[in-house]
Amino acid sequence: MGENNDMEISRAMVVVAHADDAEWGCAGTVARWCAEGKHVVYVICTDGSKGTSDASMSPEEVIASRREEQEEAGRVLGLADVVFLGFPDAYLQSNLELRKAITRQIRIHRPDVLVCMNPVRNLDGDGYIDHPDHFASGDAAMGAVYPSARDPLTFPDLLVEEGLEPHKVREVWVMGRTHPDHFVDVTEHIETAVEALRAHRSQVSPEAADRHLKEWRRRDGARIGAEYVEVFKRFRLG
Ligand SMILES: [Zn+2]
Repeated sequence: MGENNDMEISRAMVVVAHADDAEWGCAGTVARWCAEGKHVVYVICTDGSKGTSDASMSPEEVIASRREEQEEAGRVLGLADVVFLGFPDAYLQSNLELRKAITRQIRIHRPDVLVCMNPVRNLDGDGYIDHPDHFASGDAAMGAVYPSARDPLTFPDLLVEEGLEPHKVREVWVMGRTHPDHFVDVTEHIETAVEALRAHRSQVSPEAADRHLKEWRRRDGARIGAEYVEVFKRFRLG
């Protein structure tokens, strides 16, 4: 248990289902990493095409606006890259196609740590049953880390045809509070995190972004005596 000790990390990848998931889950940590000069890449699995309650918008318009919002959030945070895998929103499955697509990105960007969503349906609380894309993305990301990215004979065309060498990810951090054992103090970066979340203006109002993002992190901060904290389940892979 405890705070940081992540100075040995120089490259990170955050894999999420939707544009805005990473901002809700780990924008403070990402802002901190970017401020420390680490190389951070986002991989957004879906195209965001269902993310509106406005039935007059076409899926293409929704895809374009959500992509722009995510790219703006990436600029606020200082990301090295944002990759859009483009799987249809709301239909994401943890299958071999998704696992291979994430494996490709791991081998291209070669992160020390991969941050992902909870790979199982969240049964905590009583007001939210979680989105199926979320745990599909988490499961596929963890399957890509181990063993697909590491093993040359898995998805062999990645090596043979695309020249992507195997890569061993050293740590996996699962976002959220289900089994938290790692706490990152994001107090100095909280305003950057809020600004990044506010970039998703089709999804959240500026006031709600500020209120919710700070409220959750303040609650977790109380656990270790810091003002704002983000929590993870951390795996150190041998
Ligand atoms: Zn989402």
